[in-house]
Amino acid sequence: MAQQPEQFKDFGLDSRLLTALDHMGFNTPTEIQDRAIPVILTGHDLIASSKTGSGKTLAFLLPAIHRLMKTRALSKRDPRALILAPTRELAKQVYVQLRSLTSGSSINIALVLGGENFNDQIKALRKEPHIIVATPGRLANHLDARSLMLGGLELLIMDEADRMLDLGFAKELNQINEAADHRRRQTLMFSATLDHAEVNEMADKLLKSPKRVAVGAANAEHLDIEKRFYLCDHLDHKQALLQHILATESYQQAIIFTATRPDTERLAALLQEQGLSTAALSGDMSQAERNRIMDSFSRGQQKVLITTDVASRGLDLLQVSLVVNFDMPKQAEEYVHRIGRTGRAGAKGTAMSLVGPKDWDAFKRVERFLQQDIGFVTIEGLAGKFKGIKPAARKFGPKGAANPAAKGAGYKGKASRKPAGKPVKALKDRSDRLPTGTGLGSDDGMAPLKRKKPTSND
Ligand code: ADP
Ligand code: MG
Repeated sequence: MAQQPEQFKDFGLDSRLLTALDHMGFNTPTEIQDRAIPVILTGHDLIASSKTGSGKTLAFLLPAIHRLMKTRALSKRDPRALILAPTRELAKQVYVQLRSLTSGSSINIALVLGGENFNDQIKALRKEPHIIVATPGRLANHLDARSLMLGGLELLIMDEADRMLDLGFAKELNQINEAADHRRRQTLMFSATLDHAEVNEMADKLLKSPKRVAVGAANAEHLDIEKRFYLCDHLDHKQALLQHILATESYQQAIIFTATRPDTERLAALLQEQGLSTAALSGDMSQAERNRIMDSFSRGQQKVLITTDVASRGLDLLQVSLVVNFDMPKQAEEYVHRIGRTGRAGAKGTAMSLVGPKDWDAFKRVERFLQQDIGFVTIEGLAGKFKGIKPAARKFGPKGAANPAAKGAGYKGKASRKPAGKPVKALKDRSDRLPTGTGLGSDDGMAPLKRKKPTSND
């Protein structure tokens, strides 16, 4: 068993940070905090992973701020720390936490996001903030415009680093790395899912002999989240199931993930018509609109948020107790992140996934990623005909490797999640991961992966 965790005060953190933690009501570090903070405080580079909702933000913010409070700046003008996040909403959330931790100090901070006024950001950067929280595309635009220099950067932190690579930000990350070339720079990478060839490649370039802290495996089951899977025939069937779920489940707030942006609008209108207060959020909206929607949803003004993978990462909305995958995500990791919008900080949540013929390949990828045979549940009166797609006949397939969906289909009650007889090898490369399709999860409407040029939009 893990040792009794230390208290925050045992890390030797600056007293202003302890006061801020006290205001937040946090005394005991979570496991990732307990293990990552001492490593970061020794100055090592770090690659850290732990499940969704386990407190990774404070695990990097606390030691980063501590370092800035306790040491002299390497440069008078350049920012001392840069925190990158894949989406504007997540960057903003990290910024808000940073603000509450630095409010009692002389540390200046700035938020630099795509979709917001470039010239206003230049003005903010002229004030020489010590810490910048940014999305990578816009930050790179500022390097191009020479509105910011990173030669004195002491800390480079990448939250959800794997997602930034998925979204095609490798070029920007390399550019930032080259601009931030101080030999005393410390670099940190955090995510719930970091186990990939591209992440390792990037880490080799950006980090110096990093330490690794992994609390649990990326595919370990999140026990605070109850998962249920439903087989569906077609769109109408999915809509009927969704309506049934929203009418019968008890939940505080729900997030529904769809594959495409037009679907978010259509579904929102449908639910709204039925008297359910619903908002739609997608990456192609104006930033002002995105801000307005997230603000009102986080204040509980809508019961349901319908969105794409733009909201799959990092968002910490404590009232969300239900997540529905109206469509399965193209990448298995996004399943882990989407359902991780609930079950946070020890709270319980429920995640439901609707699996139709078009979702089948994506569903199988999730099943392989989780190394589980996933069973299905049916709702009385709403059972469909689709029973899964049998794998193409395999001559030498192992005995009993028949389509698990066929086994599970029709099962009533809780989804069975028997461990597979033989663990399937974890997917180490992305050969079977589809690139994110148009409208699927890309932050800001940019063509994901191998994007040629950053748009000025980010
Ligand atoms: P992750 O990045 O791992 O998904 P977050 O950093 O967003 O998780 O934290 C999830 C939630 O846990 C947040 O609401 C945060 O305020 C809360 N939290 C973080 N650290 C602690 C702690 N030590 N004790 C209690 N709650 C915490
Ligand atoms: Mg996080």
